Amino acid sequence: MDCIFCKIVNGDIPSNKVYEDDKIYAFKDINPQAPVHVVIIPKEHILTCANDITEENVGVVAHIFTKIPEIAKICGTEEGYRIVNNCGEKGAQTVFHLHFHLLGGEQLSEKLN
Ligand code: AMP
Ligand code: ZN
Repeated sequence: MDCIFCKIVNGDIPSNKVYEDDKIYAFKDINPQAPVHVVIIPKEHILTCANDITEENVGVVAHIFTKIPEIAKICGTEEGYRIVNNCGEKGAQTVFHLHFHLLGGEQLSEKLN
């Protein structure tokens, strides 16, 4: 499958791993928008964004959210951070494997876009 995040999970493309377990993988974004910018993905290829979360796949989404505080702590940004899901073309989504951005490491702007 020609999916860059699946290639990262499989080790076919190198990444800077921050956290991994049997269900999810988190790595530093290649084009960071904040001092801490981590991409958190399910290992399973789930198309594509918040629009596609269903009763069947919400378990891994819940798992991601239960692990976010631990990932934020690993990155030293547990005092404050932002979780973002870019959804669709108008949401500026570029990779179509479900993922959440964790942004932090500085005082974030009140402005969200
Ligand atoms: P989105 O625009 O929400 O689909 O986010 C995709 C993110 O993946 C962007 O922030 C990219 O910088 C990031 N990205 C793309 N390729 C890589 C890569 N090889 N390693 C790390 N991050 C990547
Ligand atoms: Zn994928």
